[in-house]
Amino acid sequence: MRQQAPPKLGIRGGTSNDQLRRYNLSMVMTLLHHASGCSRAELTQRTGLTRSTIAALVAELVDLGMAYEAEPETAVGRVGRPSLQVFPNPTIAAIAVAPDIDAITVGLVGLGGEVIRRIRFDTVRIQTVSETVNVVKAIVEGMRGEIESGYSIAGVGIAVPGLVNASDGRVLIAPHLGWRDAGLASAMSKVLNYPVYAGNDASLGAIAESLFGAGQDMNDLVYLNGSASGIGGGIIINGVPLRGTSGYAGELGHTLVNSHGIRCHCGRIGCLETEVNMSRLLEVLGLPRADQDELDIALGVSRDPAVLAEVRRQIDFLSEAISNFVNMFDPESVILGGFLGSLLTVGRERLAEAVNIRSMSSAGHEVVIQRASLKSKLMLVGAAELAFAGLLDDPAGYARGGR
Ligand SMILES: [Zn+2]
Repeated sequence: MRQQAPPKLGIRGGTSNDQLRRYNLSMVMTLLHHASGCSRAELTQRTGLTRSTIAALVAELVDLGMAYEAEPETAVGRVGRPSLQVFPNPTIAAIAVAPDIDAITVGLVGLGGEVIRRIRFDTVRIQTVSETVNVVKAIVEGMRGEIESGYSIAGVGIAVPGLVNASDGRVLIAPHLGWRDAGLASAMSKVLNYPVYAGNDASLGAIAESLFGAGQDMNDLVYLNGSASGIGGGIIINGVPLRGTSGYAGELGHTLVNSHGIRCHCGRIGCLETEVNMSRLLEVLGLPRADQDELDIALGVSRDPAVLAEVRRQIDFLSEAISNFVNMFDPESVILGGFLGSLLTVGRERLAEAVNIRSMSSAGHEVVIQRASLKSKLMLVGAAELAFAGLLDDPAGYARGGR
């Protein structure tokens, strides 16, 4: 599963062995990255290629500096010689950027999905595009010594809470940030001197959870993320993110849940994100702001009737929306991130029961509603996938490109 379209299969007419080898290299490199390493036997089994082909592909990736072989750490103390594991080279890294209304987070993410560094810059007011570019530039400058001493940067990925044109990284609109028609990726690329890609934060979150988090090994899932900026979504069908004609599919926060509700910034009445809303939760809790851990604790300990009533109200609207998504997409799992995960923790039974009663497809199987597991790493891991996509598509081309 990948963010971009899969590499073109070179096995159609007029194919050369070289194209086939490049395709196989891409498949093995992608597996290594998403599994954070595996044995040659697993690679053989998962690709359907022969052992000798896998041996040659692994040797080439090692030769290119994209992978290495080592004994797995978990094998320490076992009797007998453990079989070697193949790992992606974690010193090939991406710079990941996640701007939001209350902070700009910048991270360094290695191949294999490990977040090596995470820097959160709290902002007192919402930053413009050029202010955001300057903040990121300053943070990356601060990391320059670490980067130059140990990493090669594949590129920069930005997770934007808004609609983004994936082909040029232009932000069409990010309503909560007040950004409109902004050339974000090109402006960032100019100051950072790396290739820069941008995408919608919730779509990237869905990809990250499906590859490295709660949705691993699931082919069909619906992901919903709740942040201070509202609710976004991502849909994975048969292992592939649903993009839509322009790449804007997944605006699940603007699903109608209350025809008598209040007006949303999108112009409609009673959208999911106006009814299920983090600021309303903070208001009844009497908190000016809260990160996810603080919100979990506050909701977990509160016995205030006003808080309990608001939680029930939000869970009921959330279950209304999730039932619709289950009916539409018949997912194996619905994954809830951000404050929606906090709501799930305090109201799991009420939510699961309502969804399973209302969903038609629950007759076939009970949909698993679970909490996103990557938490604060989520957006960074998702954004990094944008930067790694080219490398995973053509590892040999990337390595020989001199990066
Ligand atoms: Zn709306």
